[in-house]
Amino acid sequence: MNRDNNQAPKKGRPKSSVKQTATGRSVSRGAALRAQKQAVQDANRVASQYLDASAQTADQPRPRRANVIDDSPRLKIVGLGGMDGGGSKNMMVIEYQNDAVVIDCGNDLGVDLPGINYGIADTAYLDQIKNKIRGFVITHGHLDHIGGLPHILPKYNVPVYGSRFTIGRVEEIFENFGIPMPDGFELKTVIMNEANHERLKLGEFYVELIRVTHSIPGSTSIVIDTPAGRIVDTGDFRFDPNPLDHEKTDMERFKEIAKEGVTVLMSESTTTERPGRTPSESEIEQSFIDIMDNAPGRIFVGLFSTNMNRVQMIVNAAVHHGKKVAMDGRSMVSTLEMAVRNGFVKIPKGTFVPIANAAALKDEQVVVVCTGSQGEPNSALVRMSTGDHKHVSLKEQDTVILSSTPIPYTGNDALIRAMVDDLLKKGVHVYRHETHEVDQVGPLHVSGHGSQDEYREMIEILKPKFFIPVYGDYTAKKYHIDLAVEAGIPRANCLNAENGDIISVGANKIEITGQVPHGTILVDQTGSIVSTVVVKDRVLLAEEGLVAVVLTIDKKSGALLTSPDIISRGFIYMKDSEELMNAFRNELRRAVQQRFKRVDLDRFKAELKDYVTHFLYEQTQRSPIVIPVVNVIGGRTEKGNNDLHKTDSNGQQVAKTPEEIALEQQRRFAQMRQRLLNQDARVD
Ligand SMILES: [Zn+2]
Repeated sequence: MNRDNNQAPKKGRPKSSVKQTATGRSVSRGAALRAQKQAVQDANRVASQYLDASAQTADQPRPRRANVIDDSPRLKIVGLGGMDGGGSKNMMVIEYQNDAVVIDCGNDLGVDLPGINYGIADTAYLDQIKNKIRGFVITHGHLDHIGGLPHILPKYNVPVYGSRFTIGRVEEIFENFGIPMPDGFELKTVIMNEANHERLKLGEFYVELIRVTHSIPGSTSIVIDTPAGRIVDTGDFRFDPNPLDHEKTDMERFKEIAKEGVTVLMSESTTTERPGRTPSESEIEQSFIDIMDNAPGRIFVGLFSTNMNRVQMIVNAAVHHGKKVAMDGRSMVSTLEMAVRNGFVKIPKGTFVPIANAAALKDEQVVVVCTGSQGEPNSALVRMSTGDHKHVSLKEQDTVILSSTPIPYTGNDALIRAMVDDLLKKGVHVYRHETHEVDQVGPLHVSGHGSQDEYREMIEILKPKFFIPVYGDYTAKKYHIDLAVEAGIPRANCLNAENGDIISVGANKIEITGQVPHGTILVDQTGSIVSTVVVKDRVLLAEEGLVAVVLTIDKKSGALLTSPDIISRGFIYMKDSEELMNAFRNELRRAVQQRFKRVDLDRFKAELKDYVTHFLYEQTQRSPIVIPVVNVIGGRTEKGNNDLHKTDSNGQQVAKTPEEIALEQQRRFAQMRQRLLNQDARVD
């Protein structure tokens, strides 16, 4: 309840600031407007987690030093993404005089706003240095490192460099992207061999890839030699001594690189809070064999769609047990096709069956590898568990293995829990990594990222002069800097930078010397860009709902010609609130009577909006979006009317008769009213 309720108006305040309503309650106008302002601010705060670069600058009371084109001979590093937010939409710009390369171009799938699929980095800064950009070099094929490319690359039309598998992934996402590419754009890719230390010249830079182990094939670190020193960006990595594909992190090459000297190390920071070392991928192989030995019926394995080494592991185990493998989940099938084509996954002839044929096989013959290990509502596994899948429905005695852990900071753990609930209710055997000891099986998942000992070891091997933790939020990067200090890097030579910071690398010091425009661009399910203004409205609608009032007023008399139409969405169910609606209509009648003839139409609409906001807040303590629609019939409206003339048979403009004008206005009004009413079955 509002404190201003039941208080007499204060002396000196205009009388109209406290409103008496038909129900006899009163609330100050200020309180109602404050409540609405609060609702708008709340919506802004939610949407403003993701502002584009122009909005970011507008929001800053005193913007930091504005960017100017800078061709001075110094090395600059700017993270347009990846310096916060848990390491999403990763994108690092390396710039020296007239040359720049961009490392990675990812998206952010963790954006939780209505109708938004993901965010990408705002590239206003790249527009400023467009002529310097020599190429995009990609560390690996996860979406948080490549998912922004279809939106961003066409603007610059430069080549994309990466390992064979990474380039395969880049081509795959361009093929699957729903929106046509602009005219004249052609995807240019360059495959670099990460095994033989091939170096390519991009402008004044030399670029080399070094193989690392991660949870997707073809993962690499990137070495960039610049006239002002050597930079190493690790990409995502771990030091698995025994990876399934035998593609170990190339420690020898890192040691050679270190001997020649490393100026700046940019190292990923995903799991810098995890002590020790990450176990080897090979430790989980036996767990799958054990489960397959004992499962009574069909086996379903949920995985991340790009984890091809693990797919290979499951295929091997299935072959060993004489089972067939089917696969489902569009993203996974797409990546598997590319992986098989490029020789990264080998499936023996006769092993693979289409998912549509899996139902015809005997239960004990079937292994299905699918997406949905995160409980995503539209994933193959969830649809199979709810009976919404075209070919397969899960049943008693089936076995489901979830071979992943929830992605942190996403809320996926709740989705997974709900899916597991559904599965267990059906009598499905569920094996999760988290409960593997309770279930008496071995580990079912290992992380693709290192742990503290590995992060520290990377720094010890490379012995960089300067250290910049990347791909993580401030906290994760702070822990990473502590590890670097333990590894012997002076704290003054470490920098915890934010997105947009210009990191200037000098001979003896590293510092932030300004900021470039940066931010997030939001993308919807179709791949289209959505304005932040639209998203703010959506948040406000979701929180408070919408009320439209449609008034039809006689120009001459200023009287209402019909009972006011009220349309409500997401606010209250009007049929259950007859008393309120009647009071509301009376208020509207009174507002028209008192004000319409006294002020012009625009002013009247503004007052009406205020009045309605006030009334609804007083009655309901809520502040929906209010849209007043006022139709004035029988004469010119205050704003003027362009339809007072018609073209006669000779092509001349002649004045319409008053009857014609009145008829036309009535027809238009009837059409518009119908349009509005058609949108709401609940309108009375
Ligand atoms: Zn990754």
